[in-house]
Formats: sequence, structure tokens, C-alpha cells
Amino acid sequence: MERFDALVIGAGPAGSSAAFELARRHRRVLVVEEHSRVGHPVQCAGLVSSRVLELAGSRASVLHPVNGAAVFSPALHRLGFRAAEPRAFVIDRGGLDRALAERAARAGAEFATGTRFDGFQRAADGTLEVNLRTPDGTPSRVPTRLLLGADGVASGVARAAGLRRRVEILPAFEAEFPVSPGDPEDVEVYLGTSFAPGLFGWWIPDGTGGARVGLAATAGKLSAREYFERMLDHLERRFGSRLRNPTSYLVSGIPIGHLPHIVADRVMLLGDAAAQVKPLSGGGIFLSQRAGQIAAETADTALEKDRLGAEELAQYPARFDAEVGEELRKALYLRRVFLRLTDADLEKIVQALDDAGLRGSIVAFGDIDFPADLVWRLLRQSPSLLRLLPKAVGAAFSRGGPTAPDLEPAGRFPAR
Ligand SMILES: Cc1cc2nc3c(=O)[nH]c(=O)nc-3n(C[C@H](O)[C@H](O)[C@H](O)COP(=O)(O)OP(=O)(O)OC[C@H]3O[C@@H](n4cnc5c(N)ncnc54)[C@H](O)[C@@H]3O)c2cc1C
Repeated sequence: MERFDALVIGAGPAGSSAAFELARRHRRVLVVEEHSRVGHPVQCAGLVSSRVLELAGSRASVLHPVNGAAVFSPALHRLGFRAAEPRAFVIDRGGLDRALAERAARAGAEFATGTRFDGFQRAADGTLEVNLRTPDGTPSRVPTRLLLGADGVASGVARAAGLRRRVEILPAFEAEFPVSPGDPEDVEVYLGTSFAPGLFGWWIPDGTGGARVGLAATAGKLSAREYFERMLDHLERRFGSRLRNPTSYLVSGIPIGHLPHIVADRVMLLGDAAAQVKPLSGGGIFLSQRAGQIAAETADTALEKDRLGAEELAQYPARFDAEVGEELRKALYLRRVFLRLTDADLEKIVQALDDAGLRGSIVAFGDIDFPADLVWRLLRQSPSLLRLLPKAVGAAFSRGGPTAPDLEPAGRFPAR
């Protein structure tokens, strides 16, 4: 079989973005996707910024622009925001994935759907032979110069390449309801240890009268599904009506953390496989698309020079870090602070933010792709907010921001 320049495992936003960039540079690319249909099943709430649409080069997946949001404290104090312009978009996530794959295919990328990555060997000349398996179990071996692992949170490419992933995986559960009694406009976020310890619950109107209701929470005593049932009980009490007949359920995981090594000789990880996810929200589509672009540009140059070792490929994480590393580092630090907050702390913080000046800043400067910047701005604007944080955290902040000491208790993040 003729050798590919690059084999991309996974036809999500990371894989299809990388495949598009490589194919339009006339590289021979094969995208391998285990599901028979790209974009199905959906494992995402589908709330994105306009950057995602710009990078996709299409707004066709947009279902609903979002101008407003409400954050609920553990005791259900409502902190509402409304902007003049849309600040986010609810999308048909399957539609976005298919649009990205179709664009890559139009540029010349080949696709093998219903086909599973099953490890690789290094040939004598250093190139790779990748093992693939069709649904009926038929194996094949495909030679390639480069392997891109865009295969999501449970990345088999990372395992096969020996790239250790010490990241926290937040279990997530979501259901889609065709009819919802809630606000058809605003996105809602629910904070508190009884709803979703370690992240939050969400309510996202889908623009057609239904809603996506879900949460992600630190793995612990209860499963994400059990937290979800609790949240549903609460929502039903609040709306005074039952949420019925979900059309779909989603069970997945969100990787949070920083991976020091995402390239090896002839191998690159991108997207969720590389934990390129926003630590404060778990959102990863924008970062996956950017990672796909940057990884493909680095890969193209490396292919041109025929220098495909880890050192050459390290240009990609260096460029990604230069672009978003500071935000991600700040956000990881803030996440550690968040994990230390009790429900009482959250209550006080939400109530303190319910101040006209601070709400104005949140509306003016809030950016779902760069939330850490906003938190820093709010702390500068209202230093009294620091007093609401636990003592140790406040002290660390006042001594110097995101480089403050590691607050993570040892052994918290399971090795994967
Ligand atoms: C509940 C939930 C809600 C979310 N909501 C949002 C949101 O609102 N906004 C946002 O920006 N992000 C959100 N995210 C995160 C977002 O979905 C991911 O960050 C994003 O999908 C990452 O893209 P990716 O291309 O890296 O991986 P994926 O989209 O996961 O794609 C990986 C692909 O690889 C394929 N694959 C896996 N293993 C193999 C194999 N062995 N062989 C072949 N193919 C394989 C999979 O089938 C899949 O198609 C959410 C995540 C979850 C779990």
C-alpha cells in the first residue's frame, strides 16, 4: 500500500482541522474514524464562541445565538447578564464535525469511517505502520510518515506512543430534552457541591424549544448520572413541571490538566487527546481547531525537511503555548482555587459579583475562550473579592498570581 504523509486518528474538530490544513498543502492524508458517521454520536453541549465558526469557515451549524446567561449560586441566588450582541452560539455539534470533515475531504483528505486505530509499529526506516480494524474485525496495516492522534479523551494513540497523560478526567452526563419549560434564551450555570462538585451544571436552550441539560463533576462519591438526577429534581421543582422524554443521553469525560509531552518521534497529539481543554469550563472545540491548524503547519514543514523527530515536532506545542499557554496556566491555577471553595464561599462570591460595576465588566470583557483574563480583571477592579476566598488562596494570590504554589493535594489526579 502507498504510504501516507499523515494518518489522522479521529474525525472530531482537531482531526478534521489538521487534515484540512495538510490536504490543502497537498499532503496525502488519511483520516480514520471509528464511528460509521462523522459527528455521531454527539458528546458535547455545543456552546461555542464566534472564533469556532470563523475557524470552521461556516456558520451553518448555528442553531441559536446567545446574548444572556445566568449563574446560580448553591442557594440559587441568580446572577444574570445580558449583552447587546451575541456572546456565544448554540450549535448542532454533529453538523459542525461534518462540515469540518467535508471541508477536509474537498481539500483532498481521504476518510476511512467505521475503522478503528489499533496500535502501530516502527518500520526499519523509522516510518510507521499503523494497525487498523474495520467493524467486522478485518485488520489492515497502513504505512505513514506521521501519525496524528486526535482521538479524544481516551486516546489510544497516546497510549501506543507511550505519551503519559497525567490529567484529571471529569465524568460528564447530559440529556437533550425536546421540550423545555425554562428560559428559551439564556444559558444557565449551576454551581455548588450538591449539583456538580468540581465544575458546574448547565442548561442550554437549543433554539428549537428544547434544552441540553448536563453537568461535569469531579469523580467521587456519586456518579455524574447521580448528580444529574439530583439536578433534574431541582430543576423540576424550580419550573414546577417535569422534564420528560429525553431524546438522547451523553456520557463522557473531560480531560483537565497540562501535558508536558504531546509529541514523540513521528507522533503528535492534539485536541482532547492532548488535554487542550479550557480548565474553567471544560470547553475544547476552539482549542482543538487551533491545535489542529498549528500541528498541521508544523507537520507540513517537518515533512518538507523530512525531519520528523520529537525535537522538530516540538515546534507545535511551543507555538500553541505561545498563543494560549498563559491563559491556560492562569485558568488551571484558578481551577485549583475553585476546587477549594466551599458552598458558603461560592454563595458569598456570587452575591458579591451581583454588583452593577462588576456585572458591567463581566458583560463588557467576558470571553468564553479566555475566562481567566476576566477573573484577573475583576480581582483588580474589586480587591475586596479576595477576602471572600479561603485564607491560603487569598495569600497566594496577593503574593503573585498564577505562579503561586501548587495547591493540588498529592495523588489527586489518577495516572492514565
Ligand atoms: C458533556 C460535554 C460537553 C461539552 N461541551 C462543550 C461545549 O459546549 N463547548 C466546547 O467548546 N467544548 C465542549 N466539550 C468539549 C469538546 O467536546 C471537546 O473538547 C472536543 O470535542 C475535542 O475535539 P477532538 O477533536 O479533540 O476530540 P473528539 O471530538 O472527541 O473526537 C475524537 C474522535 O476520535 C474518534 N476515535 C476515538 N478513538 C478512536 C480509535 N481508536 N480509532 C478511530 N477513531 C477513534 C472518536 O470517535 C471521535 O470522533 C464538551 C465535552 C463534554 C464531554
